[in-house]
Amino acid sequence: MPVNLSSDLVPIIYKKDIDSIAAGFLTKYFPEALEKPMPLPVEDIAELSMGLEIDYVSLGEDKDILGMMIFSDGEVQVYDREKGRYIRRHYRKGSLLVESSTLEFRGRDRFTIAHEMIHWELHQLRFMAVNPGDRSAARACRCGAQTLMSPRTSEEWIEWQADSLAAAILMPENMFRKKALELGAVDRNAQESGLIDCLAGCFGVSRKAAEIRMKNLGLYLL
Ligand SMILES: [Zn+2]
Repeated sequence: MPVNLSSDLVPIIYKKDIDSIAAGFLTKYFPEALEKPMPLPVEDIAELSMGLEIDYVSLGEDKDILGMMIFSDGEVQVYDREKGRYIRRHYRKGSLLVESSTLEFRGRDRFTIAHEMIHWELHQLRFMAVNPGDRSAARACRCGAQTLMSPRTSEEWIEWQADSLAAAILMPENMFRKKALELGAVDRNAQESGLIDCLAGCFGVSRKAAEIRMKNLGLYLL
């Protein structure tokens, strides 16, 4: 995904370009997803195509950190739920940590994996340039659950990019439109009759993610 970088190494991405960048990502790693609506095999793409290693762990006492991407060998803080305290654990570069409690919610674990894959694809330079201040610490990002509507800082833009592109690779524009229209998105009432549930099931995402995608693609207006 060739994109221009800002002076602090954050990719410059406009909202209008999100879907074409997502299509570029899928063309590179899993072009089948651009040909038929399906749940994107995020674990296979991460591990077999991108060479990452997924580990489901407890990341925080409050379960408010959903994922972490590790950009260099080193230690990160995880939460030992049995002992009720934080511990430091060594991980290798390319480890993709997912908060294990996300497995309880349909689609949230998959969205987190997609989000972290985007960090790996786009944000390595940025994270490698930030000094963690501790030699034994890994360079890593800790990603929370908040949705950013109006990002300002570099960190907020990075999270906005990862969220926007995760949605766009899990629900590729053309396939999502196709499926939504097949299911009757032209009829406003269809939303109440399980359309969102069908879309969420078809793409393996949460109901909320499918609903936001509907709105962002203007499908409510049809
Ligand atoms: Zn993130």
